[in-house]
Amino acid sequence: MNNFRYHKSASVREASDLVSESGEAKVIAGGTNLLDLWKYNLTNPALLVDINSIENCKAIEEIDDGGVRLGGLVSNAHTAYHPLIERRYPLLSKAILAGASAQIRNMATNAGNLMQRTRCYYFYDADVPCNKRRPGSGCPAREGYNRMHAILGASENCIAVFPSDMCVALAALGAVINVSGIQGDRKILFEDFHRLPGDTPEIDNVLTQGELITSIDLPKNGFSSNYSYLKLRDRNSYAFALVSVATGLSLEDNTIREARIALGGVAHKPWRVKEAEDFLRGRSANETSFSQAADIMLRQALGFKYNSFKIELSKRAIIRNGMMALNPELQKPGAQPS
Ligand code: SF4
Repeated sequence: MNNFRYHKSASVREASDLVSESGEAKVIAGGTNLLDLWKYNLTNPALLVDINSIENCKAIEEIDDGGVRLGGLVSNAHTAYHPLIERRYPLLSKAILAGASAQIRNMATNAGNLMQRTRCYYFYDADVPCNKRRPGSGCPAREGYNRMHAILGASENCIAVFPSDMCVALAALGAVINVSGIQGDRKILFEDFHRLPGDTPEIDNVLTQGELITSIDLPKNGFSSNYSYLKLRDRNSYAFALVSVATGLSLEDNTIREARIALGGVAHKPWRVKEAEDFLRGRSANETSFSQAADIMLRQALGFKYNSFKIELSKRAIIRNGMMALNPELQKPGAQPS
């Protein structure tokens, strides 16, 4: 039994101060990943700061620029079923509901979803080396069983993937993250929040010690007319994605005016390639265009012994999801794409 101190904090400022003071402090909200990490002996906080009482991070509301702000402490389930999100950002609803289980979505918070750690099986086994867990110890996944690992943006030191579904939609939508710390408040573009592993795979994101995510801003355009989220996995529920795709399109007749495509399950962060989205602008929305965009997105893809299939799978998923976005009726429960 490891002893730890528990403190219930009622303000972002206080929680941030406490966590800034000690590298051994952890914040808990839903706790759906933290408790796993703790049980597996991968973290051992001396101080647990419970932020569930902070009231000003619990709203979903429209904001002045026409977008919508998601409180960091709102649960994933409440977000997915909120009328504003279902109506204006159905891509986000769909992605959230593709993740985890109903029980976990009821507990997990929006901020926590961004903060979850990789599900690399070697990372969760404290008895084997892992550069993310113990820098410099090695990466057994590179030569080991790497079926679920990265095909894009990996490094010599780590080939882990980021497991979230929600974040794939947030990347496609171009969300902005509001954070607060002892240095004050700042905004972080979603695409800049999660890091590639490089030489420091132990660092997942750009937050500094003690900074907390207070909310997430969704831009005005939620691509609510033409969108699709496709998740491909080994079983049909409660499994992480081998590959997932979030697609949002703005169309004029059948011409693409704006395209957003983000991939999940393939890299250390949700994967967006602006060049592919620019390529689609002004083109007809058809299989050929999506296929060419997929080639651009996957130009740097590199497979390992057990996951090379993900490259072709990603290409097919991008094409299929692009075509599904032309008919969002296919996103309704029970609908089957032809
Ligand atoms: Fe650890 Fe990353 Fe290698 Fe997995 S892929 S074993 S998380 S270093």
